[in-house]
Amino acid sequence: MLTHTRILRLNKAGLPLQWLSREEAATLLVKGLVVWSLGESAVTIRGGTNRFGLRSELAIPTIIATDGDIKHANHHVPAVCNRLLFRRDCNLCMYCGDKFPVELLTRDHIQPRSRGGSESWTNLVTACRRCNQRKGNCTPEEVNMPLIAVPFKPNKMEYLALANRNILADQMSFLRSGFSKHMRWN
Ligand SMILES: [Zn+2]
Repeated sequence: MLTHTRILRLNKAGLPLQWLSREEAATLLVKGLVVWSLGESAVTIRGGTNRFGLRSELAIPTIIATDGDIKHANHHVPAVCNRLLFRRDCNLCMYCGDKFPVELLTRDHIQPRSRGGSESWTNLVTACRRCNQRKGNCTPEEVNMPLIAVPFKPNKMEYLALANRNILADQMSFLRSGFSKHMRWN
Protein backbone atom coordinates (compact mmCIF):
# COMPACT_ATOMS: atom_id res chain seq x y z
CA MET A 1 0.00 0.00 0.00
CA LEU A 2 1.50 3.32 -1.02
CA THR A 3 2.22 5.99 1.54
CA HIS A 4 0.01 8.61 -0.11
CA THR A 5 -3.07 6.44 0.35
CA ARG A 6 -5.76 8.37 2.18
CA ILE A 7 -8.70 7.16 4.19
CA LEU A 8 -12.22 8.24 3.27
CA ARG A 9 -14.13 9.47 6.29
CA LEU A 10 -17.92 9.28 6.45
CA ASN A 11 -20.29 10.31 9.18
CA LYS A 12 -22.43 7.71 10.93
CA ALA A 13 -25.17 8.12 8.33
CA GLY A 14 -22.74 7.25 5.56
CA LEU A 15 -22.31 10.74 4.14
CA PRO A 16 -18.77 11.47 3.02
CA LEU A 17 -16.88 14.14 4.94
CA GLN A 18 -13.22 14.27 4.03
CA TRP A 19 -9.97 12.52 3.24
CA LEU A 20 -7.81 11.68 6.21
CA SER A 21 -4.15 10.84 6.44
CA ARG A 22 -3.44 7.35 7.72
CA GLU A 23 -2.25 8.82 10.99
CA GLU A 24 -5.46 10.83 11.48
CA ALA A 25 -7.51 7.72 10.74
CA ALA A 26 -5.41 5.65 13.14
CA THR A 27 -6.06 8.18 15.90
CA LEU A 28 -9.83 7.90 15.41
CA LEU A 29 -9.60 4.12 15.36
CA VAL A 30 -7.57 3.96 18.57
CA LYS A 31 -9.96 6.37 20.27
CA GLY A 32 -12.83 4.03 19.41
CA LEU A 33 -14.56 6.62 17.25
CA VAL A 34 -14.89 4.40 14.17
CA VAL A 35 -18.41 3.01 14.31
CA TRP A 36 -18.37 1.00 11.09
CA SER A 37 -16.22 0.60 8.04
CA LEU A 38 -16.33 -0.34 4.38
CA GLY A 39 -13.81 -1.22 1.77
CA GLU A 40 -12.15 -4.40 0.66
CA SER A 41 -8.68 -3.37 1.57
CA ALA A 42 -6.98 -2.09 4.68
CA VAL A 43 -3.95 0.08 5.18
CA THR A 44 -1.47 -1.20 7.72
CA ILE A 45 0.55 1.20 9.75
CA ARG A 46 3.36 0.15 12.01
CA GLY A 47 3.96 1.59 15.40
CA GLY A 48 6.87 1.28 17.78
CA THR A 49 8.30 -1.82 19.40
CA ASN A 50 6.69 -2.92 22.65
CA ARG A 51 8.45 -4.33 25.71
CA PHE A 52 8.29 -7.85 24.29
CA GLY A 53 10.18 -6.72 21.24
CA LEU A 54 7.12 -6.97 19.03
CA ARG A 55 6.18 -4.28 16.58
CA SER A 56 2.63 -3.05 16.85
CA GLU A 57 0.53 -2.99 13.71
CA LEU A 58 -2.79 -1.38 13.04
CA ALA A 59 -5.00 -2.23 10.06
CA ILE A 60 -7.08 0.75 9.01
CA PRO A 61 -10.08 0.15 6.73
CA THR A 62 -10.01 2.36 3.64
CA ILE A 63 -13.47 3.81 4.34
CA ILE A 64 -14.46 4.59 7.92
CA ALA A 65 -17.64 6.00 9.46
CA THR A 66 -16.99 7.95 12.61
CA ASP A 67 -18.65 9.37 15.63
CA GLY A 68 -17.54 12.33 17.66
CA ASP A 69 -15.59 15.43 16.79
CA ILE A 70 -16.00 16.43 13.17
CA LYS A 71 -15.16 20.10 13.41
CA HIS A 72 -12.56 19.88 10.67
CA ALA A 73 -14.91 18.22 8.24
CA ASN A 74 -16.39 20.62 5.77
CA HIS A 75 -19.87 19.78 4.57
CA HIS A 76 -19.69 22.35 1.80
CA VAL A 77 -18.02 22.12 -1.52
CA PRO A 78 -15.23 24.71 -1.52
CA ALA A 79 -14.74 27.50 -4.03
CA VAL A 80 -13.32 26.79 -7.44
CA CYS A 81 -9.60 26.32 -7.91
CA ASN A 82 -8.02 25.70 -11.30
CA ARG A 83 -6.68 22.28 -10.41
CA LEU A 84 -10.15 20.92 -9.62
CA LEU A 85 -11.87 22.87 -12.39
CA PHE A 86 -9.56 21.31 -15.00
CA ARG A 87 -10.13 17.87 -13.50
CA ARG A 88 -13.89 18.40 -13.56
CA ASP A 89 -13.64 19.18 -17.26
CA CYS A 90 -11.23 16.27 -17.91
CA ASN A 91 -8.56 18.73 -19.19
CA LEU A 92 -10.76 19.45 -22.20
CA CYS A 93 -11.32 22.93 -23.56
CA MET A 94 -15.07 23.39 -23.17
CA TYR A 95 -15.20 25.33 -26.45
CA CYS A 96 -13.09 23.47 -29.02
CA GLY A 97 -13.22 20.13 -27.17
CA ASP A 98 -9.50 19.42 -27.45
CA LYS A 99 -7.48 18.01 -24.58
CA PHE A 100 -4.49 19.98 -23.29
CA PRO A 101 -1.79 19.58 -20.66
CA VAL A 102 -2.67 21.50 -17.49
CA GLU A 103 -0.09 24.23 -18.11
CA LEU A 104 -1.80 25.16 -21.36
CA LEU A 105 -5.28 25.46 -19.82
CA THR A 106 -6.98 28.56 -18.49
CA ARG A 107 -10.19 29.29 -16.62
CA ASP A 108 -12.82 31.07 -18.63
CA HIS A 109 -15.73 33.03 -17.22
CA ILE A 110 -18.75 32.12 -19.33
CA GLN A 111 -20.43 35.40 -18.43
CA PRO A 112 -17.34 37.67 -18.45
CA ARG A 113 -16.17 39.07 -15.14
CA SER A 114 -16.29 42.60 -16.55
CA ARG A 115 -19.99 42.05 -17.12
CA GLY A 116 -20.83 40.74 -13.70
CA GLY A 117 -19.93 37.07 -14.19
CA SER A 118 -19.22 35.28 -10.93
CA GLU A 119 -16.35 33.07 -9.77
CA SER A 120 -18.69 30.12 -9.37
CA TRP A 121 -18.46 26.50 -10.47
CA THR A 122 -21.33 27.13 -12.88
CA ASN A 123 -19.83 30.25 -14.46
CA LEU A 124 -16.33 28.85 -14.92
CA VAL A 125 -15.08 26.40 -17.50
CA THR A 126 -11.78 25.06 -18.68
CA ALA A 127 -10.59 26.69 -21.92
CA CYS A 128 -7.47 26.58 -24.05
CA ARG A 129 -5.64 29.87 -24.44
CA ARG A 130 -6.73 30.28 -28.02
CA CYS A 131 -10.43 29.87 -27.29
CA ASN A 132 -10.22 32.03 -24.18
CA GLN A 133 -8.61 34.80 -26.21
CA ARG A 134 -11.04 34.45 -29.07
CA LYS A 135 -14.03 34.62 -26.76
CA GLY A 136 -12.63 37.71 -25.05
CA ASN A 137 -15.22 39.78 -23.23
CA CYS A 138 -18.19 38.16 -24.91
CA THR A 139 -20.70 35.54 -23.97
CA PRO A 140 -20.62 32.20 -25.87
CA GLU A 141 -23.77 33.22 -27.76
CA GLU A 142 -22.31 36.51 -28.95
CA VAL A 143 -19.32 34.82 -30.58
CA ASN A 144 -21.11 31.60 -31.51
CA MET A 145 -18.89 29.40 -29.33
CA PRO A 146 -21.27 26.92 -27.71
CA LEU A 147 -20.06 24.97 -24.69
CA ILE A 148 -19.51 21.26 -25.27
CA ALA A 149 -20.81 20.34 -21.78
CA VAL A 150 -22.78 21.84 -18.93
CA PRO A 151 -20.59 23.42 -16.23
CA PHE A 152 -21.68 22.10 -12.85
CA LYS A 153 -20.94 22.50 -9.19
CA PRO A 154 -19.62 19.15 -7.97
CA ASN A 155 -21.57 17.48 -5.20
CA LYS A 156 -19.66 16.27 -2.17
CA MET A 157 -18.90 12.82 -3.65
CA GLU A 158 -17.70 14.38 -6.88
CA TYR A 159 -15.66 16.97 -5.04
CA LEU A 160 -13.86 14.31 -2.98
CA ALA A 161 -13.14 12.36 -6.16
CA LEU A 162 -11.70 15.49 -7.81
CA ALA A 163 -9.63 16.39 -4.77
CA ASN A 164 -7.60 13.18 -4.44
CA ARG A 165 -5.40 11.78 -7.18
CA ASN A 166 -4.70 8.51 -5.38
CA ILE A 167 -8.09 6.95 -4.83
CA LEU A 168 -8.26 3.21 -4.21
CA ALA A 169 -10.69 1.11 -6.24
CA ASP A 170 -13.08 0.47 -3.34
CA GLN A 171 -13.10 4.16 -2.39
CA MET A 172 -13.77 5.13 -6.00
CA SER A 173 -16.66 2.74 -6.37
CA PHE A 174 -18.19 4.19 -3.19
CA LEU A 175 -17.82 7.76 -4.49
CA ARG A 176 -19.07 6.86 -7.95
CA SER A 177 -22.37 5.74 -6.47
CA GLY A 178 -22.99 9.42 -5.71
CA PHE A 179 -21.86 10.92 -9.02
CA SER A 180 -24.41 12.97 -10.95
CA LYS A 181 -24.98 12.59 -14.67
CA HIS A 182 -22.80 15.64 -15.21
CA MET A 183 -19.63 13.93 -14.07
CA ARG A 184 -17.93 12.79 -17.25
CA TRP A 185 -15.43 10.34 -15.77
CA ASN A 186 -15.40 6.90 -17.38
ZN1 LIG B 1 -10.18 25.55 -27.13
